[in-house]
Amino acid sequence: MLQHSLVNHNSNSFIEKAPAAIEHKLQEHVMVGERVVIQVTIDMVGWRAFDEAWFIVTDRRIIFLRNKGRDLFVDLSLSSVKTVRVEELVGGGRLEVERTNGDTECFYYSNSLAAKFSDVAESIKLLIDNKDVSLPANLERDRCKKCKRLLPEKNGICPACVKKIDTLLRLIRYMMVYKARIAALLLLLSVQALIDLVPPLIIERIIDDVLTDVIVVEPANTVKSTPTISSSKLTLLAWLVTGLLMVYIVSWIALVTQRWVGSWVGFRAIEYLRADLFRALQYLPLRFYDQRKVGSLISRMSNDADLVEVHLLFDIPYLLNNALMVLGILGLLFYKNWELTLWVLIPIPPIVVFSTLIWGSMEAHWRRWSAHWGRLSSHLNESIRGIRIVKAFAQESREGERFDNRNNDLSAASVSAERIWVVFFMITNFFMSFGVFFVWYFGGRQILGGELELGALIAFITYLWMLYKPLKWFGDFYGMMMRAYAGAERIFEVIDTRSEPFNDTKANSALTIKGSVSFEDLSFGYDVGKPVLQNIDLTVAPGEMIGLVGKSGAGKSTLINMICRFYDGTRGTLKIDGIDIRKIKIQDLRRQIGLVAQQSFLFNSTIADNISYGKPGTKFEDIIRASRAANAHEFVVTKSEGYDMVVGEHGNKLSGGEKQRIAIARAILHNPRILILDEATSSLDSQTESKIQEAIARLVKGRTTFAIAHRLSTLRSADRLLVLDGGKVVEVGSHIELMERKGVFHNLVKTQQETTAIMATAG
Ligand code: ADP
Repeated sequence: MLQHSLVNHNSNSFIEKAPAAIEHKLQEHVMVGERVVIQVTIDMVGWRAFDEAWFIVTDRRIIFLRNKGRDLFVDLSLSSVKTVRVEELVGGGRLEVERTNGDTECFYYSNSLAAKFSDVAESIKLLIDNKDVSLPANLERDRCKKCKRLLPEKNGICPACVKKIDTLLRLIRYMMVYKARIAALLLLLSVQALIDLVPPLIIERIIDDVLTDVIVVEPANTVKSTPTISSSKLTLLAWLVTGLLMVYIVSWIALVTQRWVGSWVGFRAIEYLRADLFRALQYLPLRFYDQRKVGSLISRMSNDADLVEVHLLFDIPYLLNNALMVLGILGLLFYKNWELTLWVLIPIPPIVVFSTLIWGSMEAHWRRWSAHWGRLSSHLNESIRGIRIVKAFAQESREGERFDNRNNDLSAASVSAERIWVVFFMITNFFMSFGVFFVWYFGGRQILGGELELGALIAFITYLWMLYKPLKWFGDFYGMMMRAYAGAERIFEVIDTRSEPFNDTKANSALTIKGSVSFEDLSFGYDVGKPVLQNIDLTVAPGEMIGLVGKSGAGKSTLINMICRFYDGTRGTLKIDGIDIRKIKIQDLRRQIGLVAQQSFLFNSTIADNISYGKPGTKFEDIIRASRAANAHEFVVTKSEGYDMVVGEHGNKLSGGEKQRIAIARAILHNPRILILDEATSSLDSQTESKIQEAIARLVKGRTTFAIAHRLSTLRSADRLLVLDGGKVVEVGSHIELMERKGVFHNLVKTQQETTAIMATAG
């Protein structure tokens, strides 16, 4: 019998909660002490035969259970399984379980489950080898966990499931830093709401106590006489009008001060939010960036932050003020005349029913609208960043068309959302104002019956209009709020994503690296189930220079990414000086690694600033020393502004060779223990190249170096070459050894020589 405690539903994503019927079927087949390791749904019971079934792996066997219908059941003992693999098919995939007797059992699934089953396969392989199953920390999600809707981006936020109250509280927490000001704001808002209730009361008194008292009804046949104005009435009128004026002045002062305090707090809150967002973006692991579009990240900083800003500055104070007003007015109305008030409320129930009916479709339209916005801004970002390529290929008009399409989609989505909104808004407005007619009729009857005075009715109707204004605004506000909260959620999503473990308290700190690097059975893949590096085993001594060789896409840059710990390996370990890289403080590690990349990235600042980027505040002599060592000094002095020259965005004002030499100077000053050269000498004329080679030779001395070079001849100085193919190490040895071996490296060199010869002849 299956013990319930054997299945832990919370520990990882590989135990999914099965329906009772499946649990029951399982209990019939699983033995005492058998542990369920994987329990996941599968959406096909044969190729393209869609139906829910369960794929279960225990520490002894693989079980396949169909949910309903014919009882399809497969039970394979793990000891009879030879290997497991996944096969990609069009629109789906297949998990193949090959048995020792040669039979193969296949399980089919749709594309949405491909990543999950790649990992299931990996895990089964480990189980067969009697190893611990290490499940991935995070599977990519493209559907919302709660409502199963498609997410606007992988692992993104589901706009339909945004928790508005939680988000509001979080936004308010940003404002709560200024408690005294918030308290003042609340006080001002309440004062203003209360004061705004007073004018109709004064007007009521003016009408009933002053104006209607003077109206003298003359008998029909008498000569018309002018009514005498009593001085007490005049004084009362003067007092009442002065009171009215005072109320307006106080209300105005309250409004101005409230705006003043409110915008101060709001702007400060959004400043903190932006700062948090920027810091979060800086500390986020690269994996996060792999999954997001840059445009969408930038739009969080601009679009989303703007929406939140407007919300904090105007909507929230206005909401509080209006809420107080509505409560105050309703209280007053009931107090003054509860019968008439009930008439006022008649249109509310049908409006609530109507709103609930239309709301779902309204939300869907807003969601579509934000998705189109995201697409438009990411296209904008892409075409501006790639403007050189766009121009070089004369594709301006095509980019224009693509933009027009997206722009069209956005405006179509806006129009349809607005259309529904207008209908909704107009209809609710129309019905809401119906209360006024009831009030005129029934209130009028009460006046004629002598139960109500004219001033009271006018005050009542004034309150009614005052009540409708915020009620109508609430409807409008909800739309704004939805957009602002979706924006705030996207910002919080970035802020909440786990940053790189900079402050890992368990990590060894202040470690001085000597420079030995060892890969022990290291495997890694950017996407779940697609390994890029496989079982890398290599030990590099301090000071050794390793040349990384392999076809494009072989995994050279990925190996470098592992050393910089831009990513963590999926299996196996990487050790620096014998210490697991995950146990070294990331700051200590990166401070001692220098990187000279293929595309030397320079910041739009002076040459001196760029050289000292990794060590701000370095003395000028040291900058020059590094610059000399990098053979950069000679060209810097020819520039009119020398080291103060601003290099332009990405260093565009410098040539490729100049940029590289600055980057080398930057690395020399940084004085790293481990150096990474990523195609540092590509695409340069031979004179510049020899200068750079010279600089690099100085830089490399005494440091563990990993160099990727396109031109294989430039790697002659490397102590050992590591040849990668398809993410596996296929050859290791010195240049001479590998050439003599006449293996993969030899072939690569030959191919390159032939290509160069052909190009030379063609040129
Ligand atoms: P090389 O440097 O040898 O040309 P890379 O290490 O850059 O190769 O790439 C190895 C493989 O990993 C390639 O198939 C590439 O498509 C893939 N890859 C590289 N970077 C990423 C990434 N950020 N996300 C997903 N796949 C990637």
